[in-house]
Amino acid sequence: MIELSGLTKKYGNFTAVDGIDLKVPRGELFGFLGPNGAGKTTTLRMIAGILKPTAGSVRIAGIDLAADPIAAKAQLGFIPDRPFIYEKLTGTEFLRFVAGLFGQAGPDVEHRARELMALFDLEEWRDELVESYSHGMRQKLIISSAFVHRPAVIVVDEPHVGLDPKSIKILRDLFKEYTRRGHTIMMSTHTLEAAESLCDRIAIIHAGRIAACGTMDELQAGAAEGRGLEEIFLRLTGQRAARDLMDVLDA
Ligand code: ATP
Repeated sequence: MIELSGLTKKYGNFTAVDGIDLKVPRGELFGFLGPNGAGKTTTLRMIAGILKPTAGSVRIAGIDLAADPIAAKAQLGFIPDRPFIYEKLTGTEFLRFVAGLFGQAGPDVEHRARELMALFDLEEWRDELVESYSHGMRQKLIISSAFVHRPAVIVVDEPHVGLDPKSIKILRDLFKEYTRRGHTIMMSTHTLEAAESLCDRIAIIHAGRIAACGTMDELQAGAAEGRGLEEIFLRLTGQRAARDLMDVLDA
């Protein structure tokens, strides 16, 4: 469903994403982990077609993004880490607007918009301007907007940020059910517990390259001593322990 071949992004001499090859099949909930600056957002923005790769290709549902961007993007819902949202629309108008971008309108869209807003406890706010929404409410509206046109693939950058525990539970159930029904979700997250409990497969990216990729069992089998995802993550990404710093600080 998502196919990356040699995907590369350079900023000047700096290589942010370094030749990533990856296949995420239909119906998979795929986790994309990595330390700050590893290249997760850059990769997801290239998949979403809002950042041009320096080299390599992206295929969505078999369609080459560079060759036919409109057809490829029609299959896609994107939840960015720093979303732009029109403040002067109501929640319902925003969802209607997004569905309209994908050529969808009418009773089905209205129904889905209502149901998504109800799911995220936004019902009472649906006719209020987005400018009056809290951070978490905006995040829930953005998440709803990625589902409203029922895309085959959803790409989501850090979905948990700003959500309360109840909303996180709803989000997880929604992601699980959506993939169970044959859609595909690729999600970056810093919440290792979410990746471990939710994702069918996980890739750990470090310095623009995939350091490991597989199911939790496969990642554990490939790790000499590490058992939990946190240990595997820390070892693969070479994180230093705070106690080393204490030596430097002489504290
Ligand atoms: P985080 O977990 O902190 O969000 P990330 O894995 O999403 O990190 P990216 O945002 O993809 O990381 O950034 C990867 C690297 O590319 C970083 O070193 C970043 O500084 C660099 N980078 C990103 N955007 C630009 C840009 N527009 N110009 C120059 N360098 C950039």
